[in-house]
Amino acid sequence: MLNLIVGCGISGATLARLLADKGEKVVIIDTKEHIAGNIYDYYDDGICVHKYGTHIFHTNNKQVWDFVSNFCQWYPYQHKVRGLIDGQIVPIPFNLNTLHTVFPESLANTIEQKLLDNFGLNVKVPILELRKKDDKDLQFLAQYIYEKIFLEYTLKQWGKKPDEIDPSVSGRVPVYISRDDRYFQDKYQGIPIGGYTKMVEKILDHLNITVKLNTPFDKSMEYDRLFWTGSIDEFFDYKYGELPYRSERFEFIKYPFIKFQDAAVINYPCNYDWTRIGEYKYFLNDQSDKTIVSYEYPEAFENGKNERYYPIANEETAELYQKYLLLSQDMKNVYFCGRLGDYKYYDMDKAIARCIDLAKGL
Ligand code: UDP
Repeated sequence: MLNLIVGCGISGATLARLLADKGEKVVIIDTKEHIAGNIYDYYDDGICVHKYGTHIFHTNNKQVWDFVSNFCQWYPYQHKVRGLIDGQIVPIPFNLNTLHTVFPESLANTIEQKLLDNFGLNVKVPILELRKKDDKDLQFLAQYIYEKIFLEYTLKQWGKKPDEIDPSVSGRVPVYISRDDRYFQDKYQGIPIGGYTKMVEKILDHLNITVKLNTPFDKSMEYDRLFWTGSIDEFFDYKYGELPYRSERFEFIKYPFIKFQDAAVINYPCNYDWTRIGEYKYFLNDQSDKTIVSYEYPEAFENGKNERYYPIANEETAELYQKYLLLSQDMKNVYFCGRLGDYKYYDMDKAIARCIDLAKGL
């Protein structure tokens, strides 16, 4: 059985390994000159830099964690994000620590009590849910968080307001009624020591796997089964039109000093045109007398000009995706997966879980 996998990111690599471990032959190709897709990283001046923006592995799925742990050792990094709000650097997601930093004590205490009475401790509340609460203090809080954290950031990121995009998107960063300052609460979190590229290299290091880079898919290629992790519309030559995506432009700067900012990621929801700045040496505690940061500027995806990063979830795109999915169901031995193949805003762990399920079902 010869499997051809198109796309050498985390989805393609996971599938390749699972099939190879079953004794099947795999050829995995990518148009890029490197493996690892958008989790590709490289070393510069002793610092592991994520070429396509900051990536933090986190999951509650033990099966996924165990799978990936076969190919790396973990640096137990716990992600903390800060945001510049009203001139102060505060914890994001908005939590009880943020509340006490941005408001006078008496007001913060009143609001905290209301939050605890209405929701309880260590509970996550999406901002669009909080806005529905019929209480003067909670209304005030919801409006504050909506305007200061979500509105401008989401306009920059998606070109739309938070209530004009799928609620699951702003729901990724819910208000957290807790003193826990971390961005994620998952049981397993970390960064592979040596970086993601090295981890993917190990995933692909198998006698049954052949990797071909700088290699676009061509319909004359031979296979018994095809796995497509590129965008599904591309596979069908855009027959029904293009699925839209958001893209990003990263401006990388190397500074000749040790530290630039006080957290790995600082969000700028109210100021500037960038959404966030990532400082890479934090992730693996890399020691260097220099530091490397990236300024992140969201933009529309334009075919041939930039990369696909984020599928855009709405009714129109769901309908278009369904049309392509229907076409794919008529095909024997062709499978679609990954953020682009499934047109889903997967985190790394969800992409891996999807491939584990797919491989099991073959
Ligand atoms: N978001 C926001 N302000 C923030 C952080 C997030 O408005 O400070 C919203 C924004 O719409 C963003 C979404 O929440 O696209 C999801 O954020 P996340 O950090 O999960 O995005 P990713 O890291 O996947 O780009």
